[in-house]
Amino acid sequence: MKTTLFGAWKACLRLLESSFNEVAFYLVRKLLWRFRRPRYFILLGPPGSGKGTLATKLAPALRVRAMSTGDVFRREKAEQTSFGLQVAAHLANGTLVPDSLTLAVVRRELTRPRFWFGAMEDGFPRTEEQAIQFDLLLARWGVCVERVVLLDVDDDDLIVRLSNRRTCTNKACGRTYNLKYGPPVKAGICDVCSAAVAQRDDDTPEVVAARLRTYRVETKPLCNYYQDRKVLDSFHPTGDMTAQEVFVLVKTALQG
Ligand code: ADP
Repeated sequence: MKTTLFGAWKACLRLLESSFNEVAFYLVRKLLWRFRRPRYFILLGPPGSGKGTLATKLAPALRVRAMSTGDVFRREKAEQTSFGLQVAAHLANGTLVPDSLTLAVVRRELTRPRFWFGAMEDGFPRTEEQAIQFDLLLARWGVCVERVVLLDVDDDDLIVRLSNRRTCTNKACGRTYNLKYGPPVKAGICDVCSAAVAQRDDDTPEVVAARLRTYRVETKPLCNYYQDRKVLDSFHPTGDMTAQEVFVLVKTALQG
């Protein structure tokens, strides 16, 4: 009984928050965007290509915030929201969350204050339908996607990166490590918040294989979509390139 009441109270608070954000975001669009234009960037790449780490580093350099749809879905799942319950099975199997659900979540996230002046999208869009709908949404707001970068990493590299990937279990931190290229200073402990560092549920070999298949079928074709719009830059980061070298290359491309 207590748990149900608590759940209903939290759902109410979430509704209030999103209604407030909607109104505030409308005012920001109408009043503030003429002084500071929002900027929307997209990082495309297979699972394990380093999009997440790069997005977190690039976002402050471009004065936007990084948004990872995977992180948003994991948070919703952990909080057992109605979205979370609907996406749980997709996260576990490595299949894509349906487009309508993904777009609703992204739209809602974009109205949050942290994204009022733009976003560096990591993991969105992942289907042509998502890309089309995202363009339509931005067009309704009078803006558009500024640049898209593809990190085209070879499959052999991806398997090594994903099997060595470890993530901070503290959802508020979520820092990722690579046991080979950038392990935490103290094994198993996050450098930032001291929480435990563990392998993500969907970084197991079977789910990784499913995510790579999904990427090839659903997401890779998006490159043509953005190439046609002349906003795409592709990079092929090889194992001998440092993270800093990749960062500088991608940042230069995004700055145009
Ligand atoms: P990765 O890029 O390494 O696969 P993410 O954290 O970006 O990991 O995504 C984890 C999971 O979240 C995906 O396997 C998929 O189920 C779901 N997901 C994330 N972004 C999207 C999206 N844009 N559309 C549909 N599903 C998504």
